[in-house]
Amino acid sequence: MSERRERIALFPASFDPVTNGHLDIIHRSLKVFDRLIVAIAHNVAKAGTFSVEERLEILGAVLGNEDRIEITAFEGLLVEFCRHTGAETVIRGLRAMSDYEYEFEMALMNKHLNPDVETVFMMASQEYLYVSSSRLKELVRFGGEVTDFLPPLVEKRLREKLHPGG
Ligand code: ADP
Repeated sequence: MSERRERIALFPASFDPVTNGHLDIIHRSLKVFDRLIVAIAHNVAKAGTFSVEERLEILGAVLGNEDRIEITAFEGLLVEFCRHTGAETVIRGLRAMSDYEYEFEMALMNKHLNPDVETVFMMASQEYLYVSSSRLKELVRFGGEVTDFLPPLVEKRLREKLHPGG
């Protein structure tokens, strides 16, 4: 029997911060792919809530020691980063129709830039359909409940960040 080539996928996102919606996509991807590169896409011109170093640290703490996951960060073209890492598949999550248009355009542009890279979409799970990092930040800022949508450590870090000193 010939040996099967390892299937490597890359999940790019801002992870500012990582939510249970992202984690759901990560864990489901591991059922389909041998290895997953969780890649923080960052833009030096755009400061996030958390620095890239903080996002790397938080992802590391939340994803623990799953040896099939690599956590990294990149800047610039996604398809270039795929080439650099050997990933042939990009994973994206789809929540609502509003994600669809943006994701469709991005997938087509990436296909144009590198036809060897496929984009695979996973439907968001029902419980995380309305979860986004920006919405959760807004909830925390205004005292809303986010326990169902963030790992405890991420909720703690987010509260500290948005309400320094208590
Ligand atoms: P961006 O990186 O574009 O700022 P996000 O980090 O929120 O935005 O999202 C990156 C990827 O993660 C996208 O493919 C998005 O659809 C997916 N994603 C984000 N939140 C969820 C969720 N709750 N359920 C499923 N997929 C999600």
